[in-house]
Amino acid sequence: MTAKEIITYFENWAPPGAAWERDNPGLQVGSTACEVNKIFLCLDLTEKALDTAIANNCNFIFTHHPLIFYPVYKLDTLNNPKAKLIQKVIKHDITVYSAHTNLDFTKNGVSYELAKVLNLKNIRFLKNLDDTLNKLTVFVPESSLEKVSEAIFSAGGGIIGEYKKCSYRLSGTGTFEGSEYANPAVGEKEKFETVPEIRLEVLVSNWNLGKAVSAMIKAHPYEEPAFDIYPLKNQNPDFGMGAIGELEKPVTENEFLEHVCTSLKTENIRFAKGKRGKIKKVAVCGGSCSDLLNEAISQKADAFVTADVKYHTFQDGENKILFIDAGHYETEIFSLNVVKEKLEEFLKQRKSNIKILKYKGVGNPVKFYNKKGENQIA
Ligand SMILES: [Zn+2]
Repeated sequence: MTAKEIITYFENWAPPGAAWERDNPGLQVGSTACEVNKIFLCLDLTEKALDTAIANNCNFIFTHHPLIFYPVYKLDTLNNPKAKLIQKVIKHDITVYSAHTNLDFTKNGVSYELAKVLNLKNIRFLKNLDDTLNKLTVFVPESSLEKVSEAIFSAGGGIIGEYKKCSYRLSGTGTFEGSEYANPAVGEKEKFETVPEIRLEVLVSNWNLGKAVSAMIKAHPYEEPAFDIYPLKNQNPDFGMGAIGELEKPVTENEFLEHVCTSLKTENIRFAKGKRGKIKKVAVCGGSCSDLLNEAISQKADAFVTADVKYHTFQDGENKILFIDAGHYETEIFSLNVVKEKLEEFLKQRKSNIKILKYKGVGNPVKFYNKKGENQIA
């Protein structure tokens, strides 16, 4: 099985087009045409992680954080550790693929998984994505309606939450008069024609729009299909940032802090106190999501769990919400379990015996030193 087949399946769930515009998800190094013998999953491709992948004969590496995030102008393999790492990847004929903010923004992705690990119920997005939807409207003779609508659906159009093939169809009358050079599928050229047509409306995300329009034009019988694309202000029900849900039973602030430590398997978390009330509604976002603090407060969450929180941002949240920085690594590492499940689902479907290895080595560079002398540098 090629890397491309695996990637195509994965991207159906977490399309790179949904990622933050300055992100760099997708193929990092290597070739999607490579025949995969074993898959290696890790949050970051460190040298140790790469050595483990090599030792285990894995030639397809999936990372969450892109191996190449900032533009690379030269590969100085002597002075630049990243360049050295890339060289090693190529030397061992390995393909590296990353799913970053597309995995963050997808349903059941990074933040949904964090919410599940914290035992939240009724999980939904904290903030759905804006400006990602379009209405594609095309006017089509009834005899071609099914062909054209199926073409748009197959290109990813017409998905709303748990429903697919969603469309609206309205009968009307189309008119046209072809020039002497026209070749009309219906009627004659240089003659004013009146044709019964259906106005077909389908919702299409930005990342499927090009594909959907091409497929629609290909399936349409007319030489010049008439269609409109309307950018929508609707929020995307299927993609968003962070997640929010409720605990089964309200707990005290201290109990919740303990719960976060236990669930995320960490000894140390940073926090600012909340309103000193019970914690029931909880907002989360894996990784650096301080920007969502106001969203969490406005949705009346009692606690917000994220990472990389700055001093002044803690001040902004203090006494409004129990604001927890549980660590970048700790809030994201569990998402590899979902990626593993997703890939295993595909491999099972295809009756493939390709194995997936999740990196278990030390992935978190952040340590906490304390007076007891724990975490002393060996
Ligand atoms: Zn991250």
